[in-house]
Amino acid sequence: MLTAPVPVPTTAPVIDCGSPLCYNAAVSRWIIHLDMDAFFAAIEQRDHPEYRGHPVVVGGEADRRGVVATASYEARPYGVHSAMPTAEARRRCPHAIFLLPDHHKYSQVSRQIMGILHTFTPLVEQVSVDEAFLDITGCERLFGPPPEMARRIQERVLQETQLTCSLGVAPNRFLAKVASDLRKPAGLVVVDPNSVEDFLRDLPIEKLWGVGEVTAGALRRLGLTTVGRLAAYPREILEERFGEHGRHLHALAHGQDDSELTLGAQRKSLSAETTFARDTSDPELLDATLLDLSERVGQRLREQALAGSTIVLKLRFADFRTLTRRETRSEPTSEDLVIYHTAHRLLQPHLGAGRQFRLLGVGVSNFTAPGQPTLFAASHRQRPVDAALDQIRAKHGDAALRRARLVRKTAPDGKEPETD
Ligand SMILES: [Mg+2]
Repeated sequence: MLTAPVPVPTTAPVIDCGSPLCYNAAVSRWIIHLDMDAFFAAIEQRDHPEYRGHPVVVGGEADRRGVVATASYEARPYGVHSAMPTAEARRRCPHAIFLLPDHHKYSQVSRQIMGILHTFTPLVEQVSVDEAFLDITGCERLFGPPPEMARRIQERVLQETQLTCSLGVAPNRFLAKVASDLRKPAGLVVVDPNSVEDFLRDLPIEKLWGVGEVTAGALRRLGLTTVGRLAAYPREILEERFGEHGRHLHALAHGQDDSELTLGAQRKSLSAETTFARDTSDPELLDATLLDLSERVGQRLREQALAGSTIVLKLRFADFRTLTRRETRSEPTSEDLVIYHTAHRLLQPHLGAGRQFRLLGVGVSNFTAPGQPTLFAASHRQRPVDAALDQIRAKHGDAALRRARLVRKTAPDGKEPETD
């Protein structure tokens, strides 16, 4: 049953300059960070008007320990957020509309958005399906001052995709990323290069890059709860305690980041990862996750006409220890099952007596453009299957066709359970 509609997010951009000096033409570098708002859920609401104004949760299935990928803004007041078990989301917001993700559709929309960004500058770093950095240094003559250019980008994305995004405009990547997150949805936040420390002062330390639960806990024990407190703390002590990481955190707390954008042509690898809602040692869940990740990576490789010869498996254990294992094959591949079987093999030595996993990732690197079919002779058999899967998904969405191993016990539309 549906509750009364909640107002949909505003589409009017919010310009928050912090101070009247928000735009300084003398600043040497301007970066925009764009982040789509509740991306998967917003696409579903766009394509299904009957979902608009209602809580929508896109994610894996509750009975398979699935995890929420995106919750619409209407679902968030109920405490539903991404990476939460779908079962928990159902408890908190039973009347929400629960949908399985359609990654193929989302990556098509993603390509459309990246296309819009490339009409502003070739210097676009796509960091995920719904997130990108743009280096707009020196674009003023074409598009006006950076805040104006950001507003234009936001408008074009809205006009052409009917989706809202939030943008941060700042003198570096780190600040732009922090800024885009502050006024979601449909936000536009400009960081005044002259008052960067004011901008950061009251933010919780979790906003800093590289501060996960463990580092945050350690910093909080030192009384360093805000970025401002961290900035005022002696760098030497941070370095003593956290090594190189401490030095980096100190620089970020002062708003310093000189990292460069990684541009498309320099892309060295393609990967996908999943953080489990609860740490798991369930071999069936681990295996289904590996296959799902391998299919996602394979599909994206084929969409971009890429093939790579190194398969990478990333593991994070319950204690946050993180490992990567890789295997380099004699020929490049973009095939789901080749990726999956390699990742599966790499995983085996790490399974064992109750060992708990927090995260699994699968990647492919060491790219070459796909060569002659003969180069693929040994692993040629699956290619027509992958192509057929891609075509059917393009037409009917991801849920239309999945490998038997991925078919859930209950079909998404509530029909009779499928068998393996
Ligand atoms: Mg987003």
